[in-house]
Amino acid sequence: MEAELQQLPQKAKEKHAENKKFFNKLKKRPPKNLDYVMQELHQEEFERTDCLDCANCCKTTGPLFTNSDIERIAKHFRLKPSQFIDQFLRIDEDNDYVLQTVPCTFLGADNYCSIYEVRPKACREFPHTDRKKFHQISNLTLKNVSICPAAYNIVEAMKAKIKL
Ligand code: SF4
Ligand code: SF4
Repeated sequence: MEAELQQLPQKAKEKHAENKKFFNKLKKRPPKNLDYVMQELHQEEFERTDCLDCANCCKTTGPLFTNSDIERIAKHFRLKPSQFIDQFLRIDEDNDYVLQTVPCTFLGADNYCSIYEVRPKACREFPHTDRKKFHQISNLTLKNVSICPAAYNIVEAMKAKIKL
């Protein structure tokens, strides 16, 4: 997995123009069964991929924290939301709460998340490849394929399966 992760940014860069063209077409003419196809491709990929061998999302990006994420996680640590924010978060250029540092503070050396049960919604949903109306997050996906090997494979499988 280590070698695969090292090669991923370059592989994603090489596919960028092709992926962009595909998503532009997809946005104009999304197939009626897109949600169904994405569920299927997502499931197939995550049957093969073990996130515990990877954790590249937790190591390189980290999630946005919504207000309800902050309240839930602060409660888990028996902190006030403001104390949790002071200790772990900062506001980014889009005015969102994000981690002060990456790799994520809550990631263990064994790639387990120490706050798994209460982790942010964005962590639960990453890389968003099973969400409805997938064509609406193409810009995000174009970035995620350079971070997440599963997202990369899912986009490759999409291009093979969906003829536009
Ligand atoms: S979601 Fe993607 S980047 Fe994150 S651990 Fe799983 S395979 Fe790796
Ligand atoms: S909170 Fe957990 S799942 Fe989310 S980035 Fe940190 S270690 Fe990963």
